[in-house]
Amino acid sequence: MEQKFDVIIIGGGAIGICSAYYISKNGLSVAVIEKSEIGKESSCSFGNAGLISPSHFVPLAAPGMVAKGLKWMFNPESPFYIHPRLDSELLKWLWRYFRACNEKKMRRGIPVLYDLTHESLQLFKKINAEEKISYGFQHRGLLMLHNTVAGEKANRHEAHLAEEVGVEARLLNNDELNKLEPNVKILSRGGLYFPDDGHLIPDQFVNAMAELAKKNGVAFFSQTEVIGFEKKQHRITSVVTQNGKIGGKEFILANGSWSPLLMKKLSLNISVQPGKGYSVTVKQPVHLPKIPFILTEARVAITPMGGALRFGGTLELSTINLTINERRVKAILNAVPAYLDDMRLHTVNTKEAWAGLRPCSPDGLPFIGRFKTISNLIAATGHAMLGITLAPITGKLISEIVSSEKTTVDISQLKPNRF
Ligand SMILES: Cc1cc2nc3c(=O)[nH]c(=O)nc-3n(C[C@H](O)[C@H](O)[C@H](O)COP(=O)(O)OP(=O)(O)OC[C@H]3O[C@@H](n4cnc5c(N)ncnc54)[C@H](O)[C@@H]3O)c2cc1C
Repeated sequence: MEQKFDVIIIGGGAIGICSAYYISKNGLSVAVIEKSEIGKESSCSFGNAGLISPSHFVPLAAPGMVAKGLKWMFNPESPFYIHPRLDSELLKWLWRYFRACNEKKMRRGIPVLYDLTHESLQLFKKINAEEKISYGFQHRGLLMLHNTVAGEKANRHEAHLAEEVGVEARLLNNDELNKLEPNVKILSRGGLYFPDDGHLIPDQFVNAMAELAKKNGVAFFSQTEVIGFEKKQHRITSVVTQNGKIGGKEFILANGSWSPLLMKKLSLNISVQPGKGYSVTVKQPVHLPKIPFILTEARVAITPMGGALRFGGTLELSTINLTINERRVKAILNAVPAYLDDMRLHTVNTKEAWAGLRPCSPDGLPFIGRFKTISNLIAATGHAMLGITLAPITGKLISEIVSSEKTTVDISQLKPNRF
């Protein structure tokens, strides 16, 4: 007999799991369907940099990004790369991105990201206070290091924007940087400090939240891929998997970079492109900083995770594949010595790198809300570089949409059909 739930969540990454957590707290029956295993490598929520970033209030689509992107695009060692291919969805996405890279759109997006990231940080604190879980959460800020005049100019601009929006940010010189983070010798000429950022160990976070959801009665179907839908008029009645059908009243699309593929089954479009990134985790680093870094020019994130140190970066608009380009992984590690002294990364085995697919929207804002044409289908995808940061607030918003409550944050700019 077909199993039935109030809410079916497709995808067991950070977004799907946090949605399950908040919806189940409202007493509804919930099922999470995951084609792999919860909290495992193939999900983007596994090996990312784990930064909780209220500092990232400027959307990815911003003025100057197109020129920068064009410069980087054909350099296989640059932080941004497009795997050259003729793909109409990619071309449409790039056109939309190009159109979003202007001052007006960026300024429209900033308050939205500000609200989302700030509310999410409050929710992390609430989870920490209310639940007995540990996942390496630290609230020590973020240092954006710069080595060049252009990098300093970019961080100065960021500091001005932060002041306008009300995000605390301080420009520091080399001495001040080294005083703030004495565990490693910083070589950079300066940096921008965001004291309110946090960080965590992402796979531990997803697994801990999944355990809480399980305690709330959420059912988990792992190794189960949603391959289609059954519909009655404008509503979905069940998802079809290789193991049979599972029925529901509401359906949450939380399968990250895979969402456009699945939406084709419903003849719907959602403008998400996979943005591949890599990370390497050094288990016993020679120096272990307490505060995470972003290397401004190289676009590399360095995060302490327990006793380990993770180096992550690159955004490669690719197809859905998790193959690792070692040259790009090496480029991440090779960037470090110009910023931090004596990290001894030459012995790191780049074959052990992890790859993940960020679900990228063209305007740098996630898709959160109901689809117009299928009234019981809700999008929770497109979080790009911010999926860990925004997982709690997304989960909360999804639970509010399901229960027809007023949403904590205005979601009118996050409609799934906005392109
Ligand atoms: C190198 C790197 C560094 C990053 N650093 C940060 C950071 O510091 N801070 C931050 O906030 N974000 C960061 N991100 C981004 C963040 O990792 C993503 O935004 C986030 O993980 C997306 O979560 P998700 O749940 O939407 O997708 P995913 O975690 O990818 O989960 C989607 C799940 O859906 C499953 N699925 C797909 N199709 C189906 C189907 N048909 N049926 C069933 N299941 C299906 C997949 O198996 C997958 O498990 C980083 C990303 C990368 C690559």
